[in-house]
Amino acid sequence: MSLALTDVVLTYPDGDRTLTALDHVTMDVAEGEFAAVAGPSGSGKSSLLAVAALLIAPASGTVEVAGRDAAGLAPAERTRLRRDHIGVVFQQPNLLPSLAALDQLTVMAHMAGRPVRAAAGRARELLGAVGLAGQEHKRPHQLSGGERQRVNIARALMNDPRVLLVDEPTSALDHERGASVVALLAALTRERGVATVMVTHDLAQLDAVDRVWTMLDGRLSAAPAQVSGAATEGRPASTPTPTGR
Ligand code: ADP
Ligand code: MG
Repeated sequence: MSLALTDVVLTYPDGDRTLTALDHVTMDVAEGEFAAVAGPSGSGKSSLLAVAALLIAPASGTVEVAGRDAAGLAPAERTRLRRDHIGVVFQQPNLLPSLAALDQLTVMAHMAGRPVRAAAGRARELLGAVGLAGQEHKRPHQLSGGERQRVNIARALMNDPRVLLVDEPTSALDHERGASVVALLAALTRERGVATVMVTHDLAQLDAVDRVWTMLDGRLSAAPAQVSGAATEGRPASTPTPTGR
């Protein structure tokens, strides 16, 4: 499994009490699988992604990324595990206003200490893959909301992660643009063999996903197949076979 959470409990202090944001959550996502977690606001979706991204350590339970248990890792090792294997698209688009789309991506390689020249080639390839060929030199204000979200997705893929975590990618988009971003995530997930978790409160955007989980008050359950409509149909014939990396 590219990502496996087992019996994860996460609590936040809440006045004199504690709030249980994740209540014994267990889920796994295989490479090339596009999983969605659907649930209302406040149900714990972003907390789930923060734990999966190794940004917050759970009170109990285990998180495995690319076959490695994150518990007990020193902070620097945990950071490396995240940087090497996890891509995150946060809910708040955090593109740097002064940077062109291409530089939004190459700065990732720069921060990871990788050669920037090789990164430029990869950045171009990824911007093409998300439908932004020819727009590499545009800055965020010159792009539409949907295009900015595509830059975010391309940036999250820069380090060739095994796991892609995406928080509410459609919340700022109209239905049509949102659907096209979800379709893009589905295609990238399958073509690149990444394990993708998309969290959303938007039940209308679940057609392209392989598996739907629902989150309510910190509890995760596998949703009945008919919720997604696609979950029972399997993947399209064009789905590449997982590479087993
Ligand atoms: P969602 O993404 O589904 O809206 P969140 O994971 O953001 O849900 O929040 C789950 C619960 O945890 C909510 O009750 C929220 O208020 C609470 N919460 C989230 N982040 C924090 C935090 N940093 N400190 C305290 N409570 C938090
Ligand atoms: Mg959230």
